[in-house]
Amino acid sequence: MFISEIFYSLQGEGRLAGTPSVFIRTSGCNLRCAWCDTPYASWKPEGRHMPLGAILSEVRRNWGARHVVVTGGEPMIQEDVALLTERLKEDEFHITIETAGTVYQPVVCDLMSISPKLSNSTPRRREGGRWAAEHDRLRIQPGVLRRLMADYDYQMKFVVGAPDDIAEVLAFIEEFGVERGRVLLMAQASTQQELFERNYWLADICKFHYFRMSVRMQIDIWGGERGT
Ligand code: SF4
Repeated sequence: MFISEIFYSLQGEGRLAGTPSVFIRTSGCNLRCAWCDTPYASWKPEGRHMPLGAILSEVRRNWGARHVVVTGGEPMIQEDVALLTERLKEDEFHITIETAGTVYQPVVCDLMSISPKLSNSTPRRREGGRWAAEHDRLRIQPGVLRRLMADYDYQMKFVVGAPDDIAEVLAFIEEFGVERGRVLLMAQASTQQELFERNYWLADICKFHYFRMSVRMQIDIWGGERGT
């Protein structure tokens, strides 16, 4: 598998926020979000090819954490991701998969963390907009989303960049029949200052619409530093 990094930290987002976890970050993504916070695993994928055995040894020697997060990039485009999750489950890890929900693979996981990309993610200017059309074509895959929701315990995380984005979130959850209790909204931010400012209006939106708000501890505590 093409791996960007394996590290130990606290889960920074979603319903398991704060849980000590080993992160396996795969490198490579089929999308190109304008504000991607891991460009080294998407726009310019970096890393090393690691056999499954080497990945598992690194996870096992990692600090005794019982939660593993398979993230990216987009882990579901990795050929061996299902096998990796089977092996992790043999070791009785709690497994979270973090995906944009555009590709299906029969992985083994305890929490499918789906983060569908809203239109605010389309890279209209970055690299002259050359990825915009392809990104827009791929970012919502109804068949894949429905299958992931049917097959797994899931949470649905939306990255919100402006108050107007909420109309798109509401349309999405209605179209796909997402239970409100599974929805989390989190502010699009790459710095602590940005997160601080956007959390103010996002909190009001969450209160008004009865949505759960997600922290982003990796930005709040470590400023989005790599390996956190
Ligand atoms: S789906 Fe995730 S990894 Fe891929 S470009 Fe978007 S934010 Fe980055």
